[in-house]
Amino acid sequence: MASERFWDEPIETGSVPDSGGVFDCIFVVGGRGGSAAASYLAMEGKKVLLIEKGVWPRDKICGDAVGGKSLGHVQALGVKATLESTPHFRVTGIVFSSPNGSEVTVPLPEEDVEKMEAGYSLPRQQFDWLLFHRATELVLESGGSVIQGASVTQVFDDNGKISGVEIGIGGKRGEKRTYSAPWTIGAGGYQCPVARKIVKEMAGEELVDRMHYCGGYREYWDGVKGCEGNAGNIEIHFVDTVVPGYFWLFPLGGGKVNVGIGMVMGLLDKQKKKLKSLQADVIANHPLFKDRFADAKLIEGTSKGWQLPFGSPRKGESNQPRRAYAPGALLVGDAASLVDPFSGEGVGNALVSGEMAARHVMENKGGPEYQEELWAALGPELTNSFKMQKMSRRKWLLNWFVGKASRKPVIQEMMTEMIASKEAQENLHSKWFLVKTLLF
Ligand SMILES: Cc1cc2nc3c(=O)[nH]c(=O)nc-3n(C[C@H](O)[C@H](O)[C@H](O)COP(=O)(O)OP(=O)(O)OC[C@H]3O[C@@H](n4cnc5c(N)ncnc54)[C@H](O)[C@@H]3O)c2cc1C
Repeated sequence: MASERFWDEPIETGSVPDSGGVFDCIFVVGGRGGSAAASYLAMEGKKVLLIEKGVWPRDKICGDAVGGKSLGHVQALGVKATLESTPHFRVTGIVFSSPNGSEVTVPLPEEDVEKMEAGYSLPRQQFDWLLFHRATELVLESGGSVIQGASVTQVFDDNGKISGVEIGIGGKRGEKRTYSAPWTIGAGGYQCPVARKIVKEMAGEELVDRMHYCGGYREYWDGVKGCEGNAGNIEIHFVDTVVPGYFWLFPLGGGKVNVGIGMVMGLLDKQKKKLKSLQADVIANHPLFKDRFADAKLIEGTSKGWQLPFGSPRKGESNQPRRAYAPGALLVGDAASLVDPFSGEGVGNALVSGEMAARHVMENKGGPEYQEELWAALGPELTNSFKMQKMSRRKWLLNWFVGKASRKPVIQEMMTEMIASKEAQENLHSKWFLVKTLLF
């Protein structure tokens, strides 16, 4: 890598292929899910076309926390060592607070922290650069093409089978070129044009359900007290004025902190409040935070909002959490609505679904099988997280639970286990667990 901060450099992707080009698989696009899936297919020798609207270096609005689930893929794609050589914050635990100000720290499993498998936080510009750069190397080596700065403007279907795309070079109004392939993977985040085509236009189903979408807002700050160093806790606060959402502080190392707030959009609509002003109020006035922010500085230009399509199960929907296929097309990551409805983590599921979609393309399996495997793998934890999200809307329950946990090490140990094992999360909403923790 040429410079020390190589993730701030452009990525050379070569020339834009001629219009009419035919590929084994087209990827819309180069976020984490798209980069991972394209890399996996290119590693199998497939001729891939990867199309990304942004031009590197580029930012993506996120909380910047990367959980253990992502790290196996980061390793398999060959970028873990490089990632660890760049500045990052090593997460060793999570601080939770409740509306009445009780606080508990839940350490991440020691073994995972020691093996560097517990989690990191680092800016998306840096992490996505590494994944897109690696995808570019692999795709070009296997005879495919990579285009940046081109927006997918149309997704074509041939008698109900997705057959290719049209791009606008330099934006929607730019020069048009078209490409075709037997498979198209939609990984374009919550605004993915492939998702719009197959869910809304072709199947006539609902794309955005505001009770299953979350509004997210983040800022970068320097010098927040208690967030120094390059290892330690990330913080999730169920602040009184923010519930049914939460306020987070995710340190990034070197004194920089990702500070944000998220809430289900349907619930936010009822409150008629803006996330930005809710956050400003917490920072300026809340007794737990105002002193911590007293000498901190907001980093100019970093105040931005975005949407998180949750993977919570939809009532009456046969394709859970939402349709993720059509003949000739599969959706991954946010395009398939796979963000964890409790924690807001979406990177891990983008990588998991990216690997799965690549495998289905290799085996030339049908879309329904993909949807089934996706929900079998992710459905149990997404369903649990949805139950936990609904529980966390009740202030009294949060006060009671965090208060108990702060006094009882045995609950803290159980919470550590729950973070390590999604199956253990079943406990949190089991009546027996609640009775045990209430009575003893
Ligand atoms: C405020 C906030 C905080 C979050 N915090 C966390 C967190 O701490 N940890 C975590 O794991 N997850 C977090 N998430 C969720 C996480 O950011 C997403 O789940 C994750 O980025 C999904 O990856 P993806 O590859 O599916 O989509 P994206 O990362 O959104 O990538 C989609 C890509 O598609 C491109 N694109 C879109 N339309 C087109 C088009 N028409 N043509 C060409 N290209 C196009 C975009 O430029 C982009 O590069 C957060 C989200 C938000 C909004």
